[in-house]
Amino acid sequence: MSALTDLPPLRQSLEAHGLMADKGLGQHFLLDLNITRKIARLAGPLEGLSVIEVGPGPGGLTRALLEAGATVTVIEKDARFLPLLNELADVSEGQLRIVMGDALKADEADLAASQAVPIVANLPYNVGTALLIKWLTGAYRPASMTLMFQKEVAERIVARPGDDAYGRLAVIAQATAKARIVMEAPARAFTPPPKVDSAVVRLDPHETRPPEPVLMALERVTQAAFGQRRKMLRSSLKVLGGAELCEAAGIDPSRRAETLALEEFLGLADKLLERG
Ligand code: SAM
Repeated sequence: MSALTDLPPLRQSLEAHGLMADKGLGQHFLLDLNITRKIARLAGPLEGLSVIEVGPGPGGLTRALLEAGATVTVIEKDARFLPLLNELADVSEGQLRIVMGDALKADEADLAASQAVPIVANLPYNVGTALLIKWLTGAYRPASMTLMFQKEVAERIVARPGDDAYGRLAVIAQATAKARIVMEAPARAFTPPPKVDSAVVRLDPHETRPPEPVLMALERVTQAAFGQRRKMLRSSLKVLGGAELCEAAGIDPSRRAETLALEEFLGLADKLLERG
């Protein structure tokens, strides 16, 4: 039986199966194993761990995760990749489970046998943010997330007050996890190259996260506040209580959303909940 290391280069495997990227599914492949190995290291150590990978495509990142000693469950929407992934499963000694389906609809607890496991992915651009919000706020809580995004999205996830990129995504991400950019990847690293550069974000969920009602209130506050980010809070938050809500949370209503720290948004969400 051949081993993982005996597999042909990814480009050759794609050609052998006559596979081309489908842009509608956000397909930009990482065919350089040095890059996928680096991502696996950033997600690790993975030896002996179960991991979920979303959107394996031709399996470059999957190979790196298997090499790192992980047991991998992949979920892929594009059935064209099944024969190629099956070849990988054949040499993985039972360490690869393939699930065909839409990750947006997947039950991660089911995929992970109810364990909190790391999620690793080079995410499809069109659904990356929706998947992240699902993993940060949904019922299933991953052990960690190591995710490739468009650089602009990565910057919105890790942004701090005062940054141009600071907004709803930063507040929700940082209320629920520690988030940092751990690697940058130029557009030329992908086949075919996308229009923009990418970056890997590592997210480690906080031990305790705000309860569901607080997260929902936080969503309402940030939607209103950043929906009119140049306006003072007394006006952008008007429908939620405006100046009165701000004062109850000890925040000057003449400030703007982009100046508020995470704790201040959480304070506003608490007061919004108290007011019913
Ligand atoms: N992981 C591969 C790599 O790094 O070369 C492919 C990455 S490509 C950016 C995104 C992959 O996600 C594609 O294989 C695509 O078919 C798959 N995909 C897109 N939408 C999906 C969804 N909703 N659920 C699961 N997979 C999806």
